Amino acid sequence: MPKYVFVTGGVMSGIGKGVIAASIGKIIQVRGLKVTAVKIDPYLNYDAGTMNPYIHGEVFVTEDGGETDMDVGTYERFLDINVPKNHNITTGQVYFSVIERERKGDFLGKCVQIIPHITDEIKDRLRRIPKEEGVDLVLVEIGGTVGDIESLPYLEAARQLRLEEGGENVLNVHVTLVPVLDVVGEQKTKPTQHSVQELRRIGIQPDIIVARSKAPLKQEPRRKIGLFCNVEESAVFTSQDMDSIYQSPLLLEQQGLGTFMTHRLRLPENQPQWSSWKKMLQDHLTQTKQVNIAICGKYAELADCYVSVNDALKDAGASAGAKVNLEWIETDDFEKQSENVRLLSRFDGVLVPGGFGARGAEGKILAIEYSRSHNIPFLGICYGFQLAVVEYARHIGIKDAASSELDPETKSPVIDLMPEQNGILEKGGTMRLGAHEIAVDESSKAFSLYRKKTIWERHRHRFEVNPTYISELISKGLKFSGKSDSNRRMEILEVPSNKFHLATQFHAEFKSRPGRPSPPYFGFVQASLASNKQEVNVEQMIAHQSGGPR
Ligand code: GLN
Repeated sequence: MPKYVFVTGGVMSGIGKGVIAASIGKIIQVRGLKVTAVKIDPYLNYDAGTMNPYIHGEVFVTEDGGETDMDVGTYERFLDINVPKNHNITTGQVYFSVIERERKGDFLGKCVQIIPHITDEIKDRLRRIPKEEGVDLVLVEIGGTVGDIESLPYLEAARQLRLEEGGENVLNVHVTLVPVLDVVGEQKTKPTQHSVQELRRIGIQPDIIVARSKAPLKQEPRRKIGLFCNVEESAVFTSQDMDSIYQSPLLLEQQGLGTFMTHRLRLPENQPQWSSWKKMLQDHLTQTKQVNIAICGKYAELADCYVSVNDALKDAGASAGAKVNLEWIETDDFEKQSENVRLLSRFDGVLVPGGFGARGAEGKILAIEYSRSHNIPFLGICYGFQLAVVEYARHIGIKDAASSELDPETKSPVIDLMPEQNGILEKGGTMRLGAHEIAVDESSKAFSLYRKKTIWERHRHRFEVNPTYISELISKGLKFSGKSDSNRRMEILEVPSNKFHLATQFHAEFKSRPGRPSPPYFGFVQASLASNKQEVNVEQMIAHQSGGPR
């Protein structure tokens, strides 16, 4: 019998429910069981691809080309699995299927309703997963917070599933926030009590409560939560603030979460195997060196839209023995005053991530130009790759080079819409998505990093290098060291005369895993480490710059 663990959230969003859900999955996985995870997003969008990452967070791309919620990335990294796109269920998809079936006549003569038709569709989607994938346990995180109108059908489906599958096969975990009153330092349990009351009103009695709090829960608040929320005290756990999110599974395990779940779900009592996780964690927590990286983008302060980039750099740093200090630089500032770009000189490496649209793009080009001409290690991702081609083209004399995304009228579209994108009017799910095979040139930096002639990396783009300009770019020193679709598409670029100037059309960050960093990120961090600079005070630098060129 497959097991299901539902993870719901209380009090407020953004308290790290995804990390706790992934940690619970890890705790079961290290006991030798096959675990997967599902994220339910109760919004009407069909997928995350049409949402604003600056509000909703990163769009995580799966191997099979799904544009999913960023929590899916957390599951992949914690569980070291590829999560298929059908594991990100949205209200848009659920209603779409039910309405399509209604039109076909599947429910002829019936009144189609939220209960049972929508709830049945939700349960079917969940039950199909263990059947198709042969997993022992499906972790289901329900997005949002208990009390939201839009998540009600999912909670109802969870209630029904437990009734139908039996209490020993379905477990409910509720994650809440326990705030601390600054004045007296008291851990307040009332918001948790209210949240659980609401959950019970809907028909779900949690089996486990995980309280997010600054510090471990004290005895009295733990007792109170147990009593008022109707759970055993031994089923109340804390997820306190920690240095690395990868500590989370171990902290919960130490409090007995694994043993509790094993008994409640009647799982085999296997000894948990934590040794490789602990080794990875050790690398993440103890780094003797430091490296300073500038990430140049727009709305750069919102790190949530680049979680995977962030994590890929941390994974790479941990493996290279270096703490990666990231600074998000708004490229608009370079456009306002181009000499501002010189502040990049104090960094060991410059990264230009993926992105869309014209705003901030010229600033990114300035950042790339500065890194290339000052031999500062540079990594470009997707849009960063495309703008690196534009920058190089301008450098070799194609002065008006541009991407047609930036300037649709440009005379020199070195980056242009992919031919198959012409005529595509629908925006949802129509980019070149997911993993594609790439051939790597054996005499390249890329090959020395991947050590493979063929690789699979994930994509999300509409534009590409315009074939018309390739031979000119190559003859003037740019190397395309990775290609796909029978060498038609350019996937990796390098400037071999630089220490490290490499960019990829794909998003290598999506496949980075703790303990197994993504090769381009690892190469970039290593190169940055090799060019380590002394700390320079930025204010001093800017003051110095305004005094004239150095
Ligand atoms: N805007 C570019 C394109 O559509 C790059 C996309 C990205 O960076 N993900 O091709």
